[in-house]
Amino acid sequence: MATLKERLSQLRSQISSTARSCDRDPSDITLLAVSKTRPVEDILQAVAAGQRAFGENYLQDALPKISRLQNLDLEWHFIGRIQSNKTRDIAENFSWVHALDKFKHARRLSDQRPPGLPALNVCIQLNLTGESSKGGIRADELAGLLEKLQQLPHLQVRGLMTMPPASADETRQHQVFGTLRELLKQMNQRGHNLDTLSMGMSGDMQAAICEGATIVRIGTAIFGPRI
Ligand SMILES: *Cc1c(COP(=O)(O)O)cnc(C)c1O
Repeated sequence: MATLKERLSQLRSQISSTARSCDRDPSDITLLAVSKTRPVEDILQAVAAGQRAFGENYLQDALPKISRLQNLDLEWHFIGRIQSNKTRDIAENFSWVHALDKFKHARRLSDQRPPGLPALNVCIQLNLTGESSKGGIRADELAGLLEKLQQLPHLQVRGLMTMPPASADETRQHQVFGTLRELLKQMNQRGHNLDTLSMGMSGDMQAAICEGATIVRIGTAIFGPRI
């Protein structure tokens, strides 16, 4: 079986070749290593192989790891569902939040962001397929939410995030990711300044990259199947 270092390097070449195959510059795509449920030892192996940005979903799982690794210069992204009573821990320990879908959470995150830290980078999660099991706002709610978020001084709204249904075939993946790219373009035409499309996981990375992903969030392809 390949080592973590080998899988990571394979994945990086795959990202580059996919990007070139659809006329994109590979350096426009950031690999976020999703380390949820993985031990610190796995993260350290990824760090030794040059990885800096890590994504976590569960705070109880993430906080001890962040604390143990605090002397390394890593960038932590909170990619899970946000709960109101957890916003302070998120605001204090992460650089990015990917799944914002409520103004109430945004206001708490902004209020609770420690003054010494730069603004918290956020992506708004879109639910483009109506799946009730998933978070995210509808497309017709986006302009209104973005408008309100402008009042929050300690958040920097960077872009949009979405996930197609796990069952989606490649055509459907392209549709969903293409819709997110179009929404970002429309919002920028309205005067916003969004530069991030957080889309693509181990199973749908190719489609996401060809539709314009700037951050791919990859767990299984780096760390192996979750146990
Ligand atoms: C777990 C997770 C990922 C990574 O999924 P893999 O299929 O393991 O690559 C990406 N994004 C979110 C929001 C996740 O919860």
